[in-house]
Amino acid sequence: MQCTRCGNDRWAVTNTAHGNNRERKALISIVEPSLIWYSNDFRVRARKCKKCGNIGHTIEILMEDLLAIMNHARTDPLPNCESIEGWCEIQNQKHRKS
Ligand SMILES: [Zn+2]
Repeated sequence: MQCTRCGNDRWAVTNTAHGNNRERKALISIVEPSLIWYSNDFRVRARKCKKCGNIGHTIEILMEDLLAIMNHARTDPLPNCESIEGWCEIQNQKHRKS
């Protein structure tokens, strides 16, 4: 995966949680708007670009779930995911200030 800011492909994982992990609600809440409508069987990882410090997130789901979501999107609308981008921008602004 390439950093959206600098193109580097080396990331450090800074946090990880499974969708059922209620002790990491802050991390889970980042992906819930885009995925919880379908399943809570996912893993989210917070990552930091090793070159520029950009913050990103990855989601792991079963291939069968990904295909089911793609098939759903062929005929029905998906949830609005703007909140995720907004959250990432806030995190990057915090990083730039520190
Ligand atoms: Zn970067």
